[in-house]
Amino acid sequence: MTEPHQHTPILKVENVVVDYDGFKALQGLNFSMDYPELRVVIGPNGAGKSTFMDVITGKVKPAEGTLHFQANGQSVDLTTLREHEIATLGIGRKFQRPSVFSNLTVWENLDISLHRKSKGLFATLFSKPTTPEAEKVSEVLKTIGLSDKAQDLAGSLSHGQKQWLEIGMVLIQNPKLLLIDEPVAGMTDQETEKTGELLNELAVDHSVIVIEHDMEFVRSIAKMVTVLHEGSVLIEGPMEEVQADPKVMEIYLGRAAEADDSA
Ligand code: ADP
Ligand code: MG
Repeated sequence: MTEPHQHTPILKVENVVVDYDGFKALQGLNFSMDYPELRVVIGPNGAGKSTFMDVITGKVKPAEGTLHFQANGQSVDLTTLREHEIATLGIGRKFQRPSVFSNLTVWENLDISLHRKSKGLFATLFSKPTTPEAEKVSEVLKTIGLSDKAQDLAGSLSHGQKQWLEIGMVLIQNPKLLLIDEPVAGMTDQETEKTGELLNELAVDHSVIVIEHDMEFVRSIAKMVTVLHEGSVLIEGPMEEVQADPKVMEIYLGRAAEADDSA
């Protein structure tokens, strides 16, 4: 656990095409990232960001292309696997809207996620946690900054705290690759800042892909940014470079101008 982390490729996406009845939501997408790494994916509405996540998790199958994922020392083509098999390999996704169990405590929410694959909800609630399980829950609580809320009902948490809990619920299943969709939407400035710190901390020993619209937030956390546009990668690089690129300005400013016209 204490050995230094080597940066090695974990995901390689080649020429992926997703076809919705003739409309290509992804057209020849190429993408790769390392373990560990924090990558932010941006792009205007309809660029294919959600579809990109759907195709990694197996929710959507591509018409063409391959997605190779490194798992347990082997390269696996995700297109050959079902959604639950992909989750088991170590790919976790946090959706945009928090879906915590409001009537259960923060601790119980994490405990259920820990057992999601093995036991059912009731078995989890009515069985005594073993020591390693309790330690795992405590560790995740600490990471997401909710240790002092462990016995509070999840429903009583602020919006930002619910988002962190939900990140914890994915994290506790030990993914190597975490996909996180718009984590800071609706958060206060302070929560946004804490979320940035959390994502950078997670990226020490995970690969993390974050989809984000809040440009100020992206600037504050991102090292490497991938810009999607019309189903493929427009440009990729450090945020300062990407931001200054005329193509990027055009797709964002172009859309802003359209929005102004229609207003
Ligand atoms: P983003 O997340 O970047 O806003 P999406 O991946 O949601 O973009 O969508 C990319 C494009 O694919 C959009 O034009 C969208 O309308 C279309 N699309 C997404 N899902 C479907 C679907 N299930 N059926 C048909 N078209 C879809
Ligand atoms: Mg989307």
